[in-house]
Amino acid sequence: MLCPTEPITDFLPVCPGLFYATPARDGILSRIRIPGGIINSQQGHAIAQFAEQFGEGYVHVTNRANLQIRKTQGVTSEVFTRLQQVGLASTLTEVDHLRNIMASPTAGIDSLELIDTRPMVRELDAYICGHPELKGLSPKFSVAFDGGGAVSICEQKNEVVFRAIALENNVYFQLILGDATNILLQPEECLSVVVAIAQVYLDNVDQTLPRKPRLKHIMQDKGVEWYLQQAEPYLPFSLLKRSKPTLDQSVNSQKYHHLGVHPQRQPGFSYIGIILPLGQLLTKQLHSLTDLAQTYGSGTLRLTPWQNLLISDIPHSNIPQVKDEIERLGLHWNANHIQSSLVACTGKTGCASSATDTKGQALALTDYLKKYITLDVPVKIHFSGCAKSCAYHGKSDITLLGTLVEKNKTLVEGYHIYVGNEEQAFGRELYTNVSIPELPHLILQMLQVYQIKRAEFDETLGEFTNRYTIAKLRQLFDEEGQ
Ligand code: SF4
Repeated sequence: MLCPTEPITDFLPVCPGLFYATPARDGILSRIRIPGGIINSQQGHAIAQFAEQFGEGYVHVTNRANLQIRKTQGVTSEVFTRLQQVGLASTLTEVDHLRNIMASPTAGIDSLELIDTRPMVRELDAYICGHPELKGLSPKFSVAFDGGGAVSICEQKNEVVFRAIALENNVYFQLILGDATNILLQPEECLSVVVAIAQVYLDNVDQTLPRKPRLKHIMQDKGVEWYLQQAEPYLPFSLLKRSKPTLDQSVNSQKYHHLGVHPQRQPGFSYIGIILPLGQLLTKQLHSLTDLAQTYGSGTLRLTPWQNLLISDIPHSNIPQVKDEIERLGLHWNANHIQSSLVACTGKTGCASSATDTKGQALALTDYLKKYITLDVPVKIHFSGCAKSCAYHGKSDITLLGTLVEKNKTLVEGYHIYVGNEEQAFGRELYTNVSIPELPHLILQMLQVYQIKRAEFDETLGEFTNRYTIAKLRQLFDEEGQ
């Protein structure tokens, strides 16, 4: 095992890891890869102790279901060894910066899934941790496994996706690689495909570059067909000669199915999805949730790319006690809670690119809204400090993009507001240059008009706004405000 006492500096990864001291505006950022987002109780306590000792008493779940600890300092080699011993830190430090392997947080317990993807995640993680040459990959090289269940991760951004589908009574994995989406694989073939894709990348990228190009950009430049041709010699079968059926691209995911209580595929057991406000968890909450999982479940915590977590394997009869305990910790489990679908990037307290204090303003907004409105359908609200959109790449109902607004000849923080699930990155621009004091009432008006005028009970706010022109939406919202 390698346990550096100094930060690794032989190349500069773009993404932080545990062994790479990555400076942020508010201090050093440590990120622990959690393959598939699953941790056991020993790991849960170890992470909480790490954040207590070297951070500021809290952790964040990221949008790749990693755990991130801000403002860490003074971490010793003994601590790295301790984390490695409980299976948290890479045993191979060179590859510690690579992106977390993503899988549905309900893998193995999802009542609708076609296949349990946890063994595939473990197999790929073991491969990565045994191959130091993979340090030459772009830090953004990202792989996801979707088991075809109710909680799909297909809409999350990943460069290589394996999505389970059923065809003629068999389960296959559909390879989604750039615009190639109709190659079918046997489950046992997926690992060798990742290995071949990685090898082609290493063959074709100058390893002396300080900043590696992304796989998706190479495929955009050279074409996916070219990339697949290069991968052929590394595979014991031909990808190009596979029959290519027409596949349904729609994702049959039940929205927000990861929050609240849901029966598992194992009879008599449920999982409960818990809302973490903006992905944050105090270390005392992490200790308590870990104990809760140990007492009532299997000791397993499952982190989600929606920056929440699940406790699984709870006998149905224990669900009421678990709900009470969660609420005693100041947390919520109801998918309609105003914070259930709230995401915000780091914002200007931790990122120099941000125009606004996204997290502080997101929490202030929801504190205001919960006094005046009760949601009956989740509304996804996304705060982003700049156009890079680090916190969330999926579809939001409302996106607030940070900017500086001129008020009384002074520049103050504000937002441009976008709505709906259009093709544009954030949706359609509805309002520009809204200052912070104007924001809460304006968002409240939008929510109230949506609740009154939606076509059906479960129409989302994004779907509602998509039915109107921007001019008509402004008219509807402005009328309500008068
Ligand atoms: S979205 Fe922009 S402001 Fe927010 S963390 Fe990313 S780079 Fe920083």
